[in-house]
Amino acid sequence: MKNLPPLRKASSYRTGCPATYDYIVIGGGTAGCPLAATLSLKYKVLLLERGGSPYGNRNVSYMENFHIGLMNMAPDSPAQAFISTDGVINARARVLGGGTCINAGFYSRASSRYAMHWMLDAWYSAAL
Ligand SMILES: Cc1cc2nc3c(=O)[nH]c(=O)nc-3n(C[C@H](O)[C@H](O)[C@H](O)COP(=O)(O)OP(=O)(O)OC[C@H]3O[C@@H](n4cnc5c(N)ncnc54)[C@H](O)[C@@H]3O)c2cc1C
Repeated sequence: MKNLPPLRKASSYRTGCPATYDYIVIGGGTAGCPLAATLSLKYKVLLLERGGSPYGNRNVSYMENFHIGLMNMAPDSPAQAFISTDGVINARARVLGGGTCINAGFYSRASSRYAMHWMLDAWYSAAL
């Protein structure tokens, strides 16, 4: 955690603060964080995240606490419960790091044979 860029509450900025940025990334989630990190290699970047910091939160750091984090309905919880328009009870991220902080870490990868099959299929379709 040594080389972390500064995390500041938006309310700590003075109004009329004359800072300028090349890019402003809204949402420090799974996509927003690496995008901001990549852009900041060359440009001045401001990353705005509506949630809090995940650092020091045991429900984020420890996979065995996954369910506790999801059940936490407090306004400062990294997981925000919501009901979709078609009535499905769900949760979405509200924390720096986004869904990566509250998800289960499952991933799947297609076999190279499967990928090759669909790639060839797409090439043939495009060629027709
Ligand atoms: C409970 C749960 C379990 C999951 N399990 C898995 C899994 O096991 N494997 C898997 O591959 N995927 C899983 N996913 C899906 C995966 O986490 C998401 O697809 C992925 O994180 C989405 O990335 P994203 O960058 O699009 O959005 P997010 O990572 O959600 O990032 C969006 C960010 O924007 C912020 N934000 C929103 N509005 C504003 C605003 N107005 N201003 C500032 N900030 C804002 C949010 O707080 C959030 O941090 C899971 C998702 C959930 C919710």
